[in-house]
Amino acid sequence: YLFEMANIRDQDSWVHMNEPDAATEKAKDLVRMAIAKAQYLKPLKPGQLSVNHAALIIGGGLAGITAALALADQGFASHIVEKEGQLGGNYRKLHYTLEGLDTREHLTRLLDRVRKSELITAYTGAEIVKIEGFIGNYKTTIRMKSDERQFEHGVVIVATGAYELKTEEYLCGRNAGVVTQRDLEEMIAGEDERVKRAGSVVMIQCVGSRSPERPYCSRYCCSEAMKNALKLKEMDPGRDVTILYRDIRTFGLKEDFYKKARELNVKFIRYDEDRKPEVRADGTGLVLEVFDPILNEAVELKADLLALSVGTMPNPGNEEIGKMLKVPTNQDGFFLEAHVKLRPVDFATDGVFMCGMAHAPKLSEEAITQANAAVSRACTILTKDFIEAEGKTAYVNKSRCAACGLCEVNCPFRAIAVDLNEGCAVVNTVLCKGCGVCTASCRMNAVDLNGFNNEEVMAQIAAFAM
Ligand SMILES: Cc1cc2nc3c(=O)[nH]c(=O)nc-3n(C[C@H](O)[C@H](O)[C@H](O)COP(=O)(O)OP(=O)(O)OC[C@H]3O[C@@H](n4cnc5c(N)ncnc54)[C@H](O)[C@@H]3O)c2cc1C
Ligand code: SF4
Ligand code: SF4
Repeated sequence: YLFEMANIRDQDSWVHMNEPDAATEKAKDLVRMAIAKAQYLKPLKPGQLSVNHAALIIGGGLAGITAALALADQGFASHIVEKEGQLGGNYRKLHYTLEGLDTREHLTRLLDRVRKSELITAYTGAEIVKIEGFIGNYKTTIRMKSDERQFEHGVVIVATGAYELKTEEYLCGRNAGVVTQRDLEEMIAGEDERVKRAGSVVMIQCVGSRSPERPYCSRYCCSEAMKNALKLKEMDPGRDVTILYRDIRTFGLKEDFYKKARELNVKFIRYDEDRKPEVRADGTGLVLEVFDPILNEAVELKADLLALSVGTMPNPGNEEIGKMLKVPTNQDGFFLEAHVKLRPVDFATDGVFMCGMAHAPKLSEEAITQANAAVSRACTILTKDFIEAEGKTAYVNKSRCAACGLCEVNCPFRAIAVDLNEGCAVVNTVLCKGCGVCTASCRMNAVDLNGFNNEEVMAQIAAFAM
């Protein structure tokens, strides 16, 4: 911290490459200012804090289970808190993936490993009451029935998932012939008579997704439709299967399954959002009317079964969990990562990570990949015995502080808060990133920043004016 740089390359020669004389003058200013500040630099000693080596995983779906197992493989303990009576989440309701993985058998294997692991404690039927602390040192209280328990941990992985949207569109819930893709999968796997008898099956894509209320794509439903369509054709190649779609988003290598569906004579008809298909029941079955843009006319289809590719809705509990952990959700209600490319599984709050459908709709294999990524990031903390805090942090002049709380409201890292016992604001140097927002917002001039205090900054300004 006894270092001050006149950054002539980045702040001068590159940005003023076409004004050499002015750039030389600016370089002199930068050097003078750096020297003026350097005379006030003081050695700073970054604080150290110990790290608890366990993790809290909120949500015991596929992402949460995968994260716990990956942590255990690296020797770290975890506490999975699952609000339902059993682990598995949405994955429990799948039977197979588009690529043919038997998901029931896969989940059984994963749960068996969870049960046998001495490093994983799973609390089912449990809710989080409160989470206190910060990176390396959290204490969480959970409630199971009337029983409250507490445990300590160093990091948090949020894997609270998402839900299938409830819809009443296209007679869903009002006609037994209208089911969701997930129901259809269940019926195919259970060899339901209605599926065996169905000579014509129609599917409608993007139900409840990519609309003004939910502008996002639910991502798994095109693949889900393709997997069910292929199964239906496998069972009875002669039956009619028609998919009404807006765009087919079988991304990556899943495109091969779309091609295969076309080869097997699955029919595809495109529709527009403002010209949706219409469905009615005519006593003998279902009748759909849809405008076919290739024929340039409305066509009528008879269906024994209508399967809706119903989209995802975010977990309504995300907001509450977000408040407890001080992490944000986006405009759609999913958790928001710190940076879409550079920190895709981190939150801006240190020590908190996310994975799975808590972040956005995802296929199961993507949830697994993201859970492993979150564990890799969490291990950058769990593998340490101590974390070194920033040296350039804010500090409060107690005699000036009026305990007004303005700094507390403005700090983006929740690193400063009024302590009523102390009668002034107190900085948590572990959380403080030295951004200086509190120093700028304090009207009493009571907060200052190590490495950028008033004395140093005023010396720079005076040197610039010389
Ligand atoms: C309708 C539907 C169809 C799908 N079809 C396919 C498919 O065909 N192929 C495919 O690969 N993928 C499919 N998926 C996606 C796949 O199911 C998920 O990617 C996968 O299950 C990973 O889920 P997750 O663990 O992130 O979330 P979830 O499965 O939602 O698990 C989250 C868990 O967290 C728990 N929880 C939530 N809030 C809290 C809280 N506050 N405290 C404690 N616990 C909490 C929930 O009870 C749940 O058990 C589908 C998903 C849906 C919804
Ligand atoms: S995955 Fe396909 S059906 Fe689902 S919302 Fe996206 S485009 Fe629509
Ligand atoms: S803004 Fe200033 S006066 Fe108000 S609580 Fe923070 S440090 Fe104290």
